[in-house]
Amino acid sequence: MSHAVIDVEALCADKGLRITEQRRVIARILSESEDHPDVETLHERAAAVDPKISIATVYRTVRLFEEAGILARHEFGDGRARYEAASDEHHDHLIDVETGKVVEFVDEELEALQKRIAEKLGFRLVDHRMELYGVALDRDR
Ligand SMILES: [Zn+2]
Repeated sequence: MSHAVIDVEALCADKGLRITEQRRVIARILSESEDHPDVETLHERAAAVDPKISIATVYRTVRLFEEAGILARHEFGDGRARYEAASDEHHDHLIDVETGKVVEFVDEELEALQKRIAEKLGFRLVDHRMELYGVALDRDR
């Protein structure tokens, strides 16, 4: 599955966030990222566009975007926060424990099963997080 390109800048405008030039650069990088970068990686990419952007600014900006619901934060088992633009289309993640590669997937059966479990427990499901951790089969042989 490919990341739909999400216009983080437009999302900022929707949420009424003031958009400074540095925030604009960070928003663009997030929009263009097809992976799930951490703050250090985002900073590297941002500094390549504008060397004046500090890592502190990147930290503040991703926190702001996250609080506004523009970004989704993940932690894939290594204690580092990773970010992606929040999309309308839900997906789950499979993490290759050897390489750290993150694979995105959607499985309708899994979605339905989770709803049924919540209902059985007396809840209406409003959200979930599913992370699978695996080793590539073709690396075992
Ligand atoms: Zn993702």
